[in-house]
Formats: sequence, structure tokens, C-alpha cells
Amino acid sequence: ARFVEGDLNQVLQDTFLLLKRECERQKVELSFLPARLPSFPFDGEKIKQSLLNIVKNALEAMPDGGQIGVRTGLQEGMAVITVADSGPGIPEADLPLIFEPFFTRKGAGTGLGLSITQRIVEEHHGRISVESTAGKGTRFTILLPLEPVV
Ligand code: ADP
Ligand code: MG
Repeated sequence: ARFVEGDLNQVLQDTFLLLKRECERQKVELSFLPARLPSFPFDGEKIKQSLLNIVKNALEAMPDGGQIGVRTGLQEGMAVITVADSGPGIPEADLPLIFEPFFTRKGAGTGLGLSITQRIVEEHHGRISVESTAGKGTRFTILLPLEPVV
């Protein structure tokens, strides 16, 4: 991975530009609430890929429109990214499986998006977790350490 000091909020903004058209087409409202963050080292291209994977899943879960809210925050020396959608949620029995390579509920899914995302977060010594409520939506939380981990 190529770690460079940078502005995480800027990378997220850049990522949303790539998704804007698709969201509009699908009547999905994408909002971003950035918090003040110090600059810290991360691999921007990989973080972008991670966010794309998560937001694309949210879009695929909401073919008839909805909301996606992305926020950043600071928590105990970590940068926090949360991505919440108003989709159908993930069945509880699937939750332990969604980060497994090749797990998919989609007809033409690869089941690789979240496993790649998890690997990227782990390369950053971070953590990814998911909470989901049937009928209410899904929220992914990514924690990235601000200081290099030894
Ligand atoms: P794929 O998108 O190819 O199926 P992923 O690894 O990206 O593979 O996702 C695995 C599975 O997790 C999806 O098939 C879907 O069942 C579930 N999933 C992921 N994100 C969401 C979400 N936001 N809402 C509902 N289900 C989701
Ligand atoms: Mg996917």
C-alpha cells in the first residue's frame, strides 16, 4: 500500500463525485457531513475503492431510491467514517458472512467488494464493522488510526 499524509474528507469528496450521476439516476440522496480531521497517512486510492464498494452496495440495495449518509468523525485517536443507508437491511444470519470472499446474495454478484474493503482497512490497521436492522437500513463504520501502528 502507498501511504501518504492527506485529507481524508477530500478523498471522500472525490469519491462522491464519481457516484453523483448514479445516485441521481437512482433517486438516491447522498449526503456528506465531514468533521474536522487532522491530516494523517493513508492510501487514498484504496480508501476510495473501499468507499466505492460500500456505497455501490447501498445503491444496489435501494433500486427505488433512498438515502445514503456519510459522516466522518474523530474517536480515540482514530478517524471514523460511517456510511448509513435507508435500504432493506441485511438479514441477521448474513451478517457474519458478508465480509467473506465470494459471499453474495446477488444474481451476478462477485461477493468480493466487502472482502476487499475489509482487507484494505486491515492494511491500515483499522477496523470495519456493520450494524443492520431489517427494514430500516445498514450502517458500516470504518476506524482508521491517525498514528502509524508499530
Ligand atoms: P456483492 O456486492 O458482489 O454481492 P459484496 O462483498 O460487496 O459482494 O457484498 C456481499 C453481500 O452483502 C451482498 O450480496 C449483500 O447481500 C450484502 N450487503 C452488503 N451491503 C449491503 C447493504 N448496504 N444493504 C443490504 N445488503 C448489503
Ligand atoms: Mg458489492
